[in-house]
Amino acid sequence: MDRFVGSTPRETLERVSSSLGRSPTSAEVASYLDKHDELRHLRENFLVPTIADLPPSDLSLVDGSKDCIYLVGNSLGLQPKMARKYLEEELDKWSKMGVHGHTSGSRPWGWAENNIEELMANVVGAKTEEVALMNGLTVNLHLLLLSFYKPTAARHKILLEDKAFPSDHYAVESQIRLRGFDPQQSMLLLSPRPGEETLRTEDILEAIEREGHSVAVVMFSGVQYYTGQLFNMAAITEAGQRKGCYVGFDCAHAAGNAELKLHDWGVDFACWCSYKYLNSGAGGLAGAFIHEKHKDSIRPALSGWWGHDPKTRFQMNNVLELQPGVSGFRLSNQPILLVCPLQASLEVFGMTSMQALRRKSLLLTGYLEYLIQHYYTEDPAQPRKPHVRVITPSDPRQRGCQLSLSFSVPIGKVFRELEKRGVACDMREPSVLRIAPAPLYNTFGDVHRFIATLGSALAASSNK
Ligand SMILES: *Cc1c(COP(=O)(O)O)cnc(C)c1O
Repeated sequence: MDRFVGSTPRETLERVSSSLGRSPTSAEVASYLDKHDELRHLRENFLVPTIADLPPSDLSLVDGSKDCIYLVGNSLGLQPKMARKYLEEELDKWSKMGVHGHTSGSRPWGWAENNIEELMANVVGAKTEEVALMNGLTVNLHLLLLSFYKPTAARHKILLEDKAFPSDHYAVESQIRLRGFDPQQSMLLLSPRPGEETLRTEDILEAIEREGHSVAVVMFSGVQYYTGQLFNMAAITEAGQRKGCYVGFDCAHAAGNAELKLHDWGVDFACWCSYKYLNSGAGGLAGAFIHEKHKDSIRPALSGWWGHDPKTRFQMNNVLELQPGVSGFRLSNQPILLVCPLQASLEVFGMTSMQALRRKSLLLTGYLEYLIQHYYTEDPAQPRKPHVRVITPSDPRQRGCQLSLSFSVPIGKVFRELEKRGVACDMREPSVLRIAPAPLYNTFGDVHRFIATLGSALAASSNK
């Protein structure tokens, strides 16, 4: 992709298409971009379902032997090929040596997660000792809030997005209650301006400036799950900390998608799941981050034996020697069967860098946006084209790979027609499709096929 650096996706597409003597919408342009994609080999590390494999596909409409068009890595990433091998190794070990597996083999269960935390830290821009792999995402959010949310009468609020992911909303609400405060008073919800879909950075910063003195924790997502908006985490962190707030991020949709610099930005804490862009399989092992500046000052509210210094953990003398930082937040010994698939995926991330993935992502998602804008209109005064509005910000710095498309027609039928034709994507009633070309394994060909299939699906759903 290096040859395309410095140009906008539109410029790149127009240059490529004119050099090929083809329209930017032609399949040749997609093939050319795939051929010159220096990350294209990474797809070979994943198992891509065929169209016939997908339960809703209709083989009278499409060739079932082809790869499906998988654009839902924002919900569940594809299976890394090595996941099965690593799982089998550990099942084998268990069957052959039982308890000795804790300390034997290439992946001793006793410290298996530690071996992959460096790979994880690289993906989120953290130091290894700032990251712990443990639990599920919502559990980690709770554990972090228990230490960072210490409300006082003067400073008792948590500032978050009005339309945060439900689990985050409930977690914050219940933490406020747990501390004896009232969510009505202490949950400060930030909405976009009337008629707008996404939050303006200036409005977020202004709200922090205005309300910050009463806010204990600013808690945002990194990438908003519904709109795909990538927040300016550096600016939010700086603004919140200037007002004396702790600032944390839920990076569920940002980890493995956007280029994160949790350490350099000075983020206080963060958490994320690993089954979306990090491809660890449903319910995979989640991540937590605490900045090293809090190494000795922030302590876990709840303790378990896995937070004890591993050197003396097994002396079992019930005198807790707490590991510093996020490591002290560990509670239980690790589920090795969850470590295996995450290791398989993180090793693929280790073959490249988030910077290189992001470079591809800008062009890949820019290509999707270009084709949407070419075939569809946002303008209701143009009755001949269906209206499809991209609600994700058009500024690439304010989005990851996902585009959220809002349709003027009811989306249920269109979605079912897409599914019949081998597209895996995500629908949110009443009118939004979330389309996420993941730079780790999606191709320009996938995007091109998606656009062609969307045309057929729209036609089929308006005929019936
Ligand atoms: C996916 C997602 C979750 C899911 O939480 P789990 O604890 O992993 O079930 C929570 N919050 C956000 C922002 C998400 O995107």
